[in-house]
Order: sequence, then C-alpha cells, then structure tokens
Amino acid sequence: MNAGNRIDNAPTGAYGVGRSMSTTAYHRSALFLRDLAREPIEIVRGEGVYLFDDEGRRYLDGASGAAVASLGHGNAEIADVISQQARRLAYAHPSKFATREALELGQKMIERAPDGLTRVIFTSGGSESNETAIKLARQYHLGRGNANKYKVVTRRTSYHGATLGALAVSGQIGRRQPFAPMLLAQPMIAPTSCYRCPFGQQPESCHLECADDLETALLNEGPENVAAFIAEPIVGSSAPGRVPPDAYWRRIREICDTYDVVFIADEVMSGNGRSGRWWAMQHTDVSPDLLTTAKGIGAGYTPLGAVLAREEFHAVMQSVPGNFRHGHTYSGNPLSCTVGSKVIEIIERDGLLANVAARGLQLQQRLDEAIGAHPYVGSVRGRGLLMGIEFVQDRATKKPFPVEVDFRTRFSHACLAEGVYVYQGGGNVDGRRGDHALLAPPFILNEAQAEEMVTGITRALERVTRELPV
Ligand code: PLP
Repeated sequence: MNAGNRIDNAPTGAYGVGRSMSTTAYHRSALFLRDLAREPIEIVRGEGVYLFDDEGRRYLDGASGAAVASLGHGNAEIADVISQQARRLAYAHPSKFATREALELGQKMIERAPDGLTRVIFTSGGSESNETAIKLARQYHLGRGNANKYKVVTRRTSYHGATLGALAVSGQIGRRQPFAPMLLAQPMIAPTSCYRCPFGQQPESCHLECADDLETALLNEGPENVAAFIAEPIVGSSAPGRVPPDAYWRRIREICDTYDVVFIADEVMSGNGRSGRWWAMQHTDVSPDLLTTAKGIGAGYTPLGAVLAREEFHAVMQSVPGNFRHGHTYSGNPLSCTVGSKVIEIIERDGLLANVAARGLQLQQRLDEAIGAHPYVGSVRGRGLLMGIEFVQDRATKKPFPVEVDFRTRFSHACLAEGVYVYQGGGNVDGRRGDHALLAPPFILNEAQAEEMVTGITRALERVTRELPV
C-alpha cells in the first residue's frame, strides 16, 4: 500500500461478521461503553476456549480477554466453589477480620512465589496492585528515614494501569495525554526491545544499554529522591511478548540494590502461570522486592489482584505508627480468594503449566511458518502463552503504519470475522505509533485449537492485506 494515500476505508464499525439491528440498542442503553464508535458483540455464553455471541457465532478466545480467563469459560468446579462460598461467607471487612480463604490463598501464593517474597496484600485488580506497591515502596522508605525518596522510575511505552498513580508510571502517550496535567512527572527510561533497540544495537553488540539507562536516570534524578523502579518481566499489552535477556534483570537488580531503589515487577499479565512458570521472574535468577499481579489469578471468574512483598516491608510497616496507610474495601474478600485458591489447584492438578509451555512453542513455530515472512509482520515473539505480533508497514526499515490506518483495529476485526478474538494494541514504537496484537489464549488450549488460532490469524492477515487502501 501507499501510506501517502488518503485512508478512505478506515474501520468503521463492521466486524466483517455482520451485526443484527437488535444490537444497536446498546447505544440507546444505559451502558457507558468503552468503545463508543462501534457496536459491541453481545456475548451470551462461554465454554472452554470459546465465546458465543447472541447470534450463535463462536469465537476462539485467543487472548483470554486480556490475559485473564486462563482456565477458559464455564468451568463447573469454579462455579461450584463460588456458589458454596457465597452461601458460607461473602464478605468481612479487612480492618478487623481475616478469613480462612484469604489465609489459604496467601499461603499458596507465597509457596509458589519468587525467592524472598513472604507477604501478600490482596487487591481487586492490576491498577490497584500497582498503586498499592508504589505506596508501599514510598512508606517503606519513609519508615526507614528516607523521606526524600518518592519518585518511581518507569520505562517508556509501558503500561501499568489506568488510575492516576499507575498511569503516571505508564509510558503510553495516548493513554496519558488527556490527563497529562494531573499526572505526577515520573522519570522514564528506555524500554527493552531486541527487535527495535532504542540504542540501535543488535543482540551480538548489546551491552545492556537499556538496563544501564536506569542508573543514568537515578544519577540524573538523584538516587536519594527515587523510591522504586517498575517494569514488566514480559511485556503485555503495550508491546506484547518482549522478553529481555536474563542479564538485563541481573543488572537491574544490581542497580536497585546499589541505590536502595525498590524493584517492582509488574506481573499483572505475565504472572499466575502465563509464562509456563508461576511467575515470569522465575525464568531468571532474579527476584523483585515487590511483585504485583491480578488478571489470571481470578481467571475472569472474580476481580482479584495481589502484591507480594519481601519480609522487610512487613517489618518496617509494623514499626511505624498506623502501619501501612492504605487499603481497599474488597481486599481479600473470601469469594475472590476461594476462586484464586481453586485456580491454583486446577492449574497444578491438570498440568497446565506444561501445556502453556508446549502450546506457546507450537504457536511460535506455526505462526513463524504461516505469517513470519509476511510483509506486514515485523516480529512474532513471546514466552509461554504471552505472545505478540508486531506489525510494520515496511519490514526492511521496521517503519510502523501511520496511526490513521488503524492497522490494529483492522486486524482484530478481521480476526473476529475468522472466528478468533485477539487483543489489539499499539504504541510499541513510541507510546503512540506501532500496531500489535496480543495472543494469550487460555491454558487449556489444545493442539488442534492452537492450529485453529493460526489458521484464523493467517486468514485475517490475508483479509486485511487485501482490504488495505492502495
Ligand atoms: N499492569 C499491566 C502490565 C497490565 O497489563 C494492566 C492491564 O492491562 C494493568 C497493570 C492494570 O490492570 P487492571 O486493568 O486490572 O487495573
């Protein structure tokens, strides 16, 4: 295609699957939809890896929503524990009460956690987890007499959540822009990208300049002012499937230790088994100080998140008046905790971590064969079932499509038309430009279903290629 041409068939709302008039009722309904330009597809049922709409169409849930529904849909065992728990005890306020369900889930998570993480604070989602971790890092430094330490270093193009504190440490320009005056300015360093190295290096010539960039930022800001560094071990929605070399994390750990900076690993997407191990950090020999998570731990059956912390955070909070001055109403509610415990039990009992690793390798290999050489595919990458396809307008120069082309939406719609749901995204180049799709199917995906994903994605790419304006 010629990028200079006017884009006159940008996606308008058709999923390419045809929508009945009845669905337009959505726009007259009370719902404040997320996407106000397009009709949503009404999903009425889920079964295994599939979602079904109100007109009986079937979609393979190739992203588990957004790396959420890791056990797939309609799991009867989870439904049973929810029902039993709701009858037994739905809620007790965490200011005075603890419950058996929270104790049990906390214990299970710590037994599977990266080395050194011994305490759990429950939340209801990823943004809450990151807000909690940032505040814990700050109060930890305060409690140790380091009152100046408040800044949180993050990476450009990253995403760590939608609330103002989490958004302030997110590098996605498009998401930040409307709220820019309300966001605390936080230092940003280079992202890790072996495909699109911000330092122009090749893997052979890499000296981990992107890790050293943390030290540069700390020296610029004054390390005495910096509380924490936050990063995803495997990047999720903002540049899916980026995995830096292990040496990157060793260098980050070293820098954080040298300057007394808390290392927060955001495993909201990469955690809870999605990488093929419980935590993506466990593929390295590095442990964070705080680990944040959500999404897969509730597997879509309930909102649930957590922050895992080293013992010293607990000890310092115990020593300060008022302890940790932070909390959320639904933190550790027994209904969500019961689901979390069952999710862990099922993943282990059914050997799903091994399946995640095997299906991840299968998808990588088959996608490489099917679309790896396509002129619009820059990179197919990931670990376990946290994968991404990065699209480019020009493979040789890695030039992204102009934002107006909205390649990401064209592709995700074409996938829906082929019966596969993928999570579209963008901003991998500079926080705004760069189209990609996140692939993160449920852990129960079988070999044939993985093949079905590859076929749907391949056809969708052919469809978009045909339909792009020339
Ligand atoms: N951190 C990461 C890495 C995420 O991908 C997300 C959401 O996509 C969040 C944090 C925010 O999580 P939530 O949407 O549950 O608030």
